[in-house]
Amino acid sequence: MGYIISDDTKELLKDVKEFCDNEIKEQVKEYDIKGEWPKPIYDMATEMQLTMMDVPEEYGGLGLSHIDQAAIVEEIAKADAGVAVTINGNGLALKPVLIAGNDEQKKKCCDIILNGGWGAFALTEPDAGCDAGNGKTTAVKEGDYYILNGRKCFITNAQVADFFVVTAMTNKQFGTKGMSAFLVYKGTPGLSVGNHENKMGIRTSITSDVILEDVKVPVENRLGEEGTGFYTAMKTLDLARMWCAVIGVGLCQRCVDEAAVYAQQRVQFGKPIWKHQAVQFKLADMEIRTEASRALVAAAIRLADAGLAYTNEASAAKCFTGDSAVQNAVDAIQIFGGYGYSREYPVEKLLRDAKIFQIFEGTNEIQRMVIGRSVISNH
Ligand SMILES: Cc1cc2nc3c(=O)[nH]c(=O)nc-3n(C[C@H](O)[C@H](O)[C@H](O)COP(=O)(O)OP(=O)(O)OC[C@H]3O[C@@H](n4cnc5c(N)ncnc54)[C@H](O)[C@@H]3O)c2cc1C
Repeated sequence: MGYIISDDTKELLKDVKEFCDNEIKEQVKEYDIKGEWPKPIYDMATEMQLTMMDVPEEYGGLGLSHIDQAAIVEEIAKADAGVAVTINGNGLALKPVLIAGNDEQKKKCCDIILNGGWGAFALTEPDAGCDAGNGKTTAVKEGDYYILNGRKCFITNAQVADFFVVTAMTNKQFGTKGMSAFLVYKGTPGLSVGNHENKMGIRTSITSDVILEDVKVPVENRLGEEGTGFYTAMKTLDLARMWCAVIGVGLCQRCVDEAAVYAQQRVQFGKPIWKHQAVQFKLADMEIRTEASRALVAAAIRLADAGLAYTNEASAAKCFTGDSAVQNAVDAIQIFGGYGYSREYPVEKLLRDAKIFQIFEGTNEIQRMVIGRSVISNH
């Protein structure tokens, strides 16, 4: 069962399905093996305005509701989770600008995306992953500029980004309240990106370090007030977790789809393997996890679309969906038997792709911390 979406989005979804079947699914195997960013696929996605889903209508974008966007993103994720992560990377970079930026900043970043450009959100540092508030990157104010120094790591889309949202400490002694967020544009002297990480999965998404060496950033590029960077980053992560969960649902569903087809084709002991109850129950558990994941995502989206707080719901959806995607991929491989372990078949890639959904945008341990604390504060 899918989401209930608008008629306009139903039309777009049809085109997206074609794009997924005819282009993404056909091409990603090669790109996955090479670990290469599939530019032709992203050029097509840009042409179809899929990289602009998060740009509000008032800034010239599609301005889709979260539920409409979820249907599109899930479809892309079913074809390839890495492509969905890349496309969503623009939303991840734009969100802090929409939360904390002024009109001029919003317009500039939206225009970049509308013109086919990319954004990156740079919070994580080599010594500040889960403990994201403990970053070492500094921003020292000198007249009308801040001078940024530090290193960010594992930044999605960094190698192709035209703008970066970078967090840096403006007042380390204030802890997380001493963090600020800045817009840094590609080409600013002192800004560079590291090598493309050779990753286990989502290999069609590009991930690199971002290095800041005496980067001179005008004061007008600060997002919001000094000291609000951590708050902005956490609000951004609420949304990012919801999108992680949506992509996770796509992965869950793809595992079900692949396993259900294979289980009808493969015959052992004189009958299709789905007729063996152990296989049938595995398929049932995979389906249950997929539907439960989608329902959790829908609950978070309902709140987000209504403009209400959804931190806990996004954490629950991200955590459950990430765990479900990994388990569904493990089960899909089991149903494929030895063939599931071979790169000739699609399901081993699903496990490699699924694993990251327990790690990024806050590990699942961090999600459980968020939820656990809220359970206690509510009782
Ligand atoms: C492919 C990829 C793309 C990414 N994209 C981005 C991006 O675009 N922008 C960005 O800013 N970051 C990005 N990240 C970074 C990602 O969010 C971090 O990797 C993640 O938050 C975990 O940080 P870490 O890797 O430093 O792990 P660590 O913080 O070192 O954690 C290691 C282990 O310890 C556990 N742990 C740590 N603290 C606790 C605790 N208090 N309680 C329980 N367990 C704990 C963790 O759950 C984990 O299992 C990306 C990462 C990857 C791999």
